[in-house]
Amino acid sequence: MKNFIIFGSPGAGKGTQAELLAKKYNLAHLSSGAILRNALQNGLISDNTNKYLKAGNLVPEKTIINLMTETIGRQKKNQGLIFDGFPRTLNQAEKLDEILKEKNLTISKVLEIKINEKEGTKRILERAKTSGRNDDNKKILNNRFRVYRQEMTPIKNYYRTQKKLVSIDGCRTVEEIFQNLSAEIEKNI
Ligand code: AMP
Repeated sequence: MKNFIIFGSPGAGKGTQAELLAKKYNLAHLSSGAILRNALQNGLISDNTNKYLKAGNLVPEKTIINLMTETIGRQKKNQGLIFDGFPRTLNQAEKLDEILKEKNLTISKVLEIKINEKEGTKRILERAKTSGRNDDNKKILNNRFRVYRQEMTPIKNYYRTQKKLVSIDGCRTVEEIFQNLSAEIEKNI
């Protein structure tokens, strides 16, 4: 089975596109943010973790790696995966490769959606009206962008060296981006 990562700054449209791609290609959509929020709601991880989400900082490596390892372990064997929001650090990228290797799996492609921060901010502030997420506000968003800027280069280099990174322009309509990403997925399935 083929596995993909969707990668991009806050507001790039990762969640929207991952959901559409998951439906079209029968992939399991693993959103680390949603998995974390759900684990918090169900008391599966310490309440303390919430302070990282609220501030727009990355949760401790151990927390997210354990959660993702567990989640990957629960997936059907014959279904491909699309990761959204994970990995966020070089360490997570390396760990993900180890987890997949144990199952004889690998990442086929990393799909980066590129947008500028101005557009990302506009989209997140629009989403804030309905998302109910307490990290969708201007102050926290600036921190989320800062964290992204810090972590993205090592991750991109990691996948670029493996010739797995594809970058597409995210400043277009959902449909146009979806067509573009679909074409990339089809080259790999
Ligand atoms: P997201 O829904 O992807 O925007 O993630 C929301 C928040 O969850 C982030 O700001 C982090 O606090 C946390 N989070 C999500 N994914 C990760 C990850 N891979 N590593 C660490 N923290 C994460």
